[in-house]
Amino acid sequence: MARYELMSRTYAPTLKEDPAEAELASHRLLLRAGMIRKTAAGLYSYLPFAWRSLMKIEAIIREEMDAIGAQEILVPMIVPGEIWQQSGRWDVYGPELLRLKDRHGRDFVVGPTHEETFVDLVMNELRSYKQLPVTLYQIQDKFRDEIRPRFGLMRGREFIMKDGYSFDATVEGMQKSYEDEKAAYARICERCGLKALPVVADSGQIGGDTSVEFMALAESGEASLVWCDCGFAADTEAACAKISFDEYAVGDAVEIETPCEGSIASLAAFLGITEQACRKSFALIAEDGSPVLCLLPGDHELNDVKAEHAFGHYDVMDEEKMAAYGLVKGYMGPIGADPRVRIVADASLKDAQSWLIGANKVGYHIKGALPGRDFEVAEWLDLATAQEGDGCPHCGAPLHTARGIEVSQVFQLGTKYSEAMGATFMDEDGVEKPFQMGCYGIGVSRTLAAVVEQYNDEHGIIFPVSVAPYEVEIVPLNVGDDLVWPAVERLAGELVAHGLEVIVDDRSERAGVKFADADLYGMPYQVILGKRGVANGMAEVKDRATGERTDVPFDGLAAYLLERIAPKRA
Ligand code: ATP
Ligand code: MG
Repeated sequence: MARYELMSRTYAPTLKEDPAEAELASHRLLLRAGMIRKTAAGLYSYLPFAWRSLMKIEAIIREEMDAIGAQEILVPMIVPGEIWQQSGRWDVYGPELLRLKDRHGRDFVVGPTHEETFVDLVMNELRSYKQLPVTLYQIQDKFRDEIRPRFGLMRGREFIMKDGYSFDATVEGMQKSYEDEKAAYARICERCGLKALPVVADSGQIGGDTSVEFMALAESGEASLVWCDCGFAADTEAACAKISFDEYAVGDAVEIETPCEGSIASLAAFLGITEQACRKSFALIAEDGSPVLCLLPGDHELNDVKAEHAFGHYDVMDEEKMAAYGLVKGYMGPIGADPRVRIVADASLKDAQSWLIGANKVGYHIKGALPGRDFEVAEWLDLATAQEGDGCPHCGAPLHTARGIEVSQVFQLGTKYSEAMGATFMDEDGVEKPFQMGCYGIGVSRTLAAVVEQYNDEHGIIFPVSVAPYEVEIVPLNVGDDLVWPAVERLAGELVAHGLEVIVDDRSERAGVKFADADLYGMPYQVILGKRGVANGMAEVKDRATGERTDVPFDGLAAYLLERIAPKRA
């Protein structure tokens, strides 16, 4: 039997002051509203209100997974080191991985994600193409020993994740499983109330996207993205934009005196040209120890993720090494560099006919240089970070930038894990083949943080109905009053009987305290009951989102609230 909850029995201790450590609204408000408490860095307890929200988010996920035929299971959080060795991740996963030994000295990891466990689970039982496709998922705590756990639930070390894995016989099958998950993920974001964009997370070798992240838009988001009115959106780390450049002094390569400070801005100002007409040089040492000089559009930055793809874990070249390779800080360029330095240029500059580059001589640049004639470019790569105004790779229109919170990601894995672990099935043609896999993750606890990040004001949280801990908070002003309290109990019972989720602030606090707490907790509707109202059979309903207040007679209260709440349920 559904019942209403009493605030006096609920563990939701509020904080009057903003916690000093909380930079983000969501972190601050989840702490202040008594929804989470920190046990240690990156480790949080979820108190009753947070837990109710999380259960609603999980219910939405389960419904959407059900709808696409994914089956829920639960595997151990602790994973034998052995299968991580089989997949090859034991050696490459860095210090984020929490490794441990049992009493027999055997290696284990606390799962940061569970590809290996799921492959290991199915590999000896899914034997035939006739048994495929299969998609399994779980909702479970994950552990990643993040270097900088912060922002509360946003980047915890232990956090709740929904992780799912699909097993198909063919690439086309995998793509279908992936598309189904992607569509489900879009619905999950929407039903949780999140304003989110699916953004391309990597460029995709198979054609189309092979990975998409769902980004909840927020100024405070750690991720940056570019998007276009045509519908294209990509993580800045993955975006390959059309970058335009200017030309300065086409003709012969000529050394010119540039007695400026050695930055692109000062060079452009000194010559009275745009930064786009300059070429930026960035020297690094690749993972294999080789020296590399990257040439970039003058007004763009080297993208760290793209550079890691190209050069592995690289280091910025220090001045000592620069000197050893004939490079002069502030005036670097390809001409005059040691022949061991590999010259790599951003692909956007391929058609540039005139390069203004450093002369490797303090106070000098070379104008009008030309690759192929004056210096050699070993490779043209996508290296620059896309920025506002660059051209959309699809339609060419100027890109916009935004910031976001990655709440979920879908990924076409192909045979990466199945091959490494020898997970095969017998195909139609009688040949053993590795499974075609996809993997799909949702940050469940991060989703709650993202919702709060998008829905709040200076007074507190403004929960969307679909994930609110309760739909209605009744705020009686004189709980000790002989008339008020019986009316509260009757009304609360009636609302619950109509299927509404109700909490009653039965504490004998001052009205001001209760109002402030109700705004802080952020239940979508507040029903305020005072002495005079009760005497007249009237309640005051406050819509937390709009602040709008309406007097509603008792006998119409359930219908009034239902009419507003029911359509907003997930
Ligand atoms: P990030 O780039 O933010 O570190 P990720 O890409 O490493 O995340 P995935 O491996 O894609 O994360 O994990 C799936 C989902 O789990 C993410 O989309 C995110 O919502 C959530 N998640 C990942 N790391 C954390 C964390 N430290 N705290 C809370 N949620 C997380
Ligand atoms: Mg991710």
